[in-house]
Amino acid sequence: MHTALLPLLKSTFGFSDFRGVQDQVLDRVMGKQNTLAVMPTGAGKSLCYQLPAIANEGTVVVISPLIALMHDQLRSAEAVGIRAATLTSADDNRAETIARLKAGELDLFYAAPERASQSHFRELLEQTNISMFAIDEAHCVSEWGHDFRPDYRLLRPLLDHFADVPRLALTATADHHTREDILVQLGIEHNGLIIAGFDRPNIRYNISPRKGLTGQIKDLIDRIPGSGIIYAPTRNATEKLADQIAKTGRSARAYHAGLHSEIRQKNQADFVASEDMVMVATIAFGMGIDKPDVRFVAHAGLPKSIEAYYQETGRAGRDGDPAEAHLFWGAEDFARARQRLSEVDEKRMDSERTRLAAMGGLVEAAGCRRAILLRHFGEEPPKQCGNCDNCLHAPATRNVTELARKFLSAVYRTGQSFGVTHLEAVLTGRQDEKIRARGHDKLSVFDIVSDEDAALIKPVSRSLLLRDALRNNEYGGLMFGPEARAILKGDEEVAIVEPPKRERRSRRGGGA
Ligand code: ADP
Ligand code: ZN
Repeated sequence: MHTALLPLLKSTFGFSDFRGVQDQVLDRVMGKQNTLAVMPTGAGKSLCYQLPAIANEGTVVVISPLIALMHDQLRSAEAVGIRAATLTSADDNRAETIARLKAGELDLFYAAPERASQSHFRELLEQTNISMFAIDEAHCVSEWGHDFRPDYRLLRPLLDHFADVPRLALTATADHHTREDILVQLGIEHNGLIIAGFDRPNIRYNISPRKGLTGQIKDLIDRIPGSGIIYAPTRNATEKLADQIAKTGRSARAYHAGLHSEIRQKNQADFVASEDMVMVATIAFGMGIDKPDVRFVAHAGLPKSIEAYYQETGRAGRDGDPAEAHLFWGAEDFARARQRLSEVDEKRMDSERTRLAAMGGLVEAAGCRRAILLRHFGEEPPKQCGNCDNCLHAPATRNVTELARKFLSAVYRTGQSFGVTHLEAVLTGRQDEKIRARGHDKLSVFDIVSDEDAALIKPVSRSLLLRDALRNNEYGGLMFGPEARAILKGDEEVAIVEPPKRERRSRRGGGA
């Protein structure tokens, strides 16, 4: 325990103890060791560089992706008396900031990643006594992450140029791949990885198909009087929904990148100050907003990924009191996401497809939502949490153990390297060139699934991926995971939620 820092923690921030892994992170950081801290939203990441900034000689240089985020951080740092400044195109006191920096009058200095490649920025830092680099939202450096920003790739040469200065990378959401990638991209040794527990036990997760969205939202806001955020997929949708909510008498605002920045700021400030306002927003809203008493976060459409879902829902209940997350999804969301998939860069295609499949697995799951989320982040949670929709009211399920076994057999017999479309073709006995050329029409698993069950093949494969009975190889083909054997042997049953309507709809040519 970093007892030496406790008096400073108390006098500057008014806190009497460290929280979660803060202590561990500070230990490394104060020892000048490179560190990647993966801590969920609300875990108190900023303190991990703010406290060293005032405890140590010199300036902490914070790299942050958004001007708005920097300004929020600046305000909260200054509020506790930390000497801080930002250097952005939006600041007109740049000359003064540079002078303060060189004179050693700043504890914290915020800059955007694109500055990293500018030679005069490097020269400026050479004239500065830098005690540490803090790289905020570090998942932006990874193409695996959900928010890749090419500018983050410019950081490494800068960091390496100041090889003696320790680096602290921080992120709220990083799955296994992204984590490994951040370490490599930012040159942080493997033992520098510190991961906080991801569970947010006070958040109750609920996921259901959209059935009259306005009615579903109305039920939600009538039931929960506190403030909440509703994420809507388009700017238009945010304004429409905010209007509809306002008509019911509840205060509501819209927030999206198309609004004038003054209106955006006002809406945000009003939301933070309010106790019952509903903010209907695009995902442009949320980063860096410090409102601990958000009682619900709803999604009117499918989030981009499990990481994004976790981060967005993580804005609920930061005060630790009960809060709810509601996701309303439809077949159209998946159709649109698949459409977008065909437009992404070849290089990103597989990771994007995996992301979408994971999202599909989450919304269709019959089991505990929290368990799926936590497993996604590499934890080994209990099978049931008791605080999600599926744990509280087990959904109607269909036992698909037999079909799951057939599917696993097909994976095995075809050599554990084909994707679901090919396996489906084999199982349903489709006569095509690719199948004949590989002799897959001669396999015992050829044509063993009835037309009636054919629509269940994709949901079953997603469910097997989720349970780790299947894994994707690097080319998107399916291979066995550790749970496959138990299912094949008949030791484990497989169930899926009663057949999702979207399978039927998409056959008729899409529901969008
Ligand atoms: P993050 O960036 O990880 O989402 P923040 O740094 O914004 O989280 O911190 C979330 C909240 O927790 C803030 O209100 C902060 O003041 C508070 N906090 C941080 N560390 C502590 C602590 N050790 N004790 C009590 N509250 C803390
Ligand atoms: Zn649960």
